[in-house]
Amino acid sequence: MKRIIVTGGAGFIGSHLCERLLNEKAEVLCVDNFFTGRRQNVARLFSNPGFELMRHDVTFPLYIETDEIYNLACPASPVHYQFDPVQTTKTSVHGAINMLGLAKRTRAKILQASTSEVYGDPAVHPQVESYWGNVNPIGPRACYDEGKRCAETLFFDYYRQHKTRIRVARIFNTYGPRMLPNDGRVVSNFIVQALQGHDITVYGKGDQTRSFCYVDDLVEGFLRLMAAPDDVTGPMNLGNPVESTILELAEKIIGLAKSKSKIIYKPLPQDDPTRRRPDISQARATLKWEPKTKLDDGLGLTVDYFRKLLA
Ligand code: NAD
Ligand code: UDP
Ligand code: UDP
Repeated sequence: MKRIIVTGGAGFIGSHLCERLLNEKAEVLCVDNFFTGRRQNVARLFSNPGFELMRHDVTFPLYIETDEIYNLACPASPVHYQFDPVQTTKTSVHGAINMLGLAKRTRAKILQASTSEVYGDPAVHPQVESYWGNVNPIGPRACYDEGKRCAETLFFDYYRQHKTRIRVARIFNTYGPRMLPNDGRVVSNFIVQALQGHDITVYGKGDQTRSFCYVDDLVEGFLRLMAAPDDVTGPMNLGNPVESTILELAEKIIGLAKSKSKIIYKPLPQDDPTRRRPDISQARATLKWEPKTKLDDGLGLTVDYFRKLLA
């Protein structure tokens, strides 16, 4: 059986990934410090003999034998990654060094969960992998953006210097069940507000755009990228190219939740990117991958999840 480590495995995406890998008959070690992850997210996996959960912070070394590593450890919501920005940079950078050291020693394949945030507030639209980005290095988002950019640098230096078997996925906004209700990201915020009848908080005018990918589609992309030949290093965009304004998203969620909530407007956070949409030509051509879940369907499943959770 393949031995796989998932760092950040008790988080939103990580928990779906662990479940999928167990279904593929792998042995999964979930490594998490529970900063934004929850034991509850993986509780259903405890009865699976292939599953193991370890409380560990990736900024410290980890000596374990393994065949594959998915490095997801890092808070992803702006609210959470800005809570302790120094720790966010440490997690991205020291975490990458330790996991790359582990991959180098064991000759394991290692996939990095990078982000569309490496493009910052993009001057090129839609974003292609060859675009170098437009990131404020000293702003409130920098701990995350620059941490992830430095992690990409480390991945490519380990690849060139040590022939480490790397894969770098640039993930665009992903949503689905098991996001935290107080996560602070837009999909969970709007759904929780709509279900509780609270005002829907649109930041700015709501004309900024994002492109939302359902979590199952993203996980399929991860597995295909990991299984690709070693010369397919990426960086590779993984996301749904269907773009919406934040105001359109708010209206859609109010409709799906059959909510009477009103939309109110709050100040736009500093350095909030104005638009974001992945060009996924590379993933389509190399992995034969594209998202299958329509936004209405994915949001419907997520609304159902939060309805049960909040009941
Ligand atoms: P999440 O916050 O739910 O999950 C992150 C997990 O990492 C949590 O379980 C957390 O406890 C754990 N973690 C944080 N710091 C750690 C540390 N030092 N050591 C060990 N574990 C640690 O977020 P998510 O949405 O599931 O994101 C997972 C990964 O995907 C992150 O690396 C994120 O940057 C990346 N990503 C996510 C999105 C998205 O839209 N969800 C977009 C781009 C990139
Ligand atoms: N490391 C780890 N597990 C391993 C091998 C290495 O956590 O199985 C860590 C170790 O702490 C080291 C880092 O990864 O500092 C980078 O390892 P590498 O071998 O690249 O560098 P070096 O040991 O020379 O600093
Ligand atoms: N946003 C919003 N209301 C909220 C939360 C977020 O209008 O309650 C906006 C935010 O300003 C950004 C977009 O929604 O323009 C996506 O925010 P999120 O924090 O989900 O992720 P980002 O893509 O900015 O990292």
